[in-house]
Amino acid sequence: MALALYRKYRPKTFTEVIGQDHVTEPLMQALRSGRLNHAYLFSGPRGCGKTSSARILARSLNCAQGPTPDPCGECDSCRALAPDGPGSIDVIEIDAASHGGVDDARELRERAFFAPAISRYKIYIIDEAHMVTTQGFNALLKIVEEPPEHLVFIFATTEPDKVLPTIRSRTHHYPFRLIPPGAMRALLERNCAAEGATVEPAVFPLVIRAGVRSARDTQSVLDQLLAGAGPAGVTYERAVALLGVTDVALID
Ligand SMILES: [Zn+2]
Repeated sequence: MALALYRKYRPKTFTEVIGQDHVTEPLMQALRSGRLNHAYLFSGPRGCGKTSSARILARSLNCAQGPTPDPCGECDSCRALAPDGPGSIDVIEIDAASHGGVDDARELRERAFFAPAISRYKIYIIDEAHMVTTQGFNALLKIVEEPPEHLVFIFATTEPDKVLPTIRSRTHHYPFRLIPPGAMRALLERNCAAEGATVEPAVFPLVIRAGVRSARDTQSVLDQLLAGAGPAGVTYERAVALLGVTDVALID
């Protein structure tokens, strides 16, 4: 099975995250100046880089040379937290859709008090944070309000309004946005070049429209077109037929 483009070309550093400069630049500056917080909230549409950025923040915080906006990529932590790495015992990802209940939150709270095993920080990435129950959030409140020095929370959610306000007010909130078409196109062209794939230029706007400005969805559309491409590569004709979009040229 071919590795999906979205996973194969997952960004490793904030400079590789596309279309979110309003978020990545201040985060990099905070890392540079050491003005760090114990809790972050990454909100925004699905597939726009929230989870990737949470992992990058963890990698930047725990780099042996860090905290740094430019993780070295060489130390044990950087290798473990690379997109194709095995992960780190001190960076714990939790899917709140399945582990957002009060018992899960209590267990997390108890474990979170223990110092990290090998890294600078113990970092919890809580994905789909809007799925944490009110009781669950209440169980986390004290540790988010008065965290031990080693602890960092990164909440990622499509619905920041559903995060308990008393938790939300403790976070630095970074709103991610839909990715601008120009940035998306640059990403697609880069991926196609890296794959050695031939794609007619007129195909890109169709792919971008079909992917509704989500990096994940857009790359999935391209994945599908590449999978079905013949020797001529991805043609406009094939893309129009498959994506079912109106061919503007024909109407004209
Ligand atoms: Zn490093």
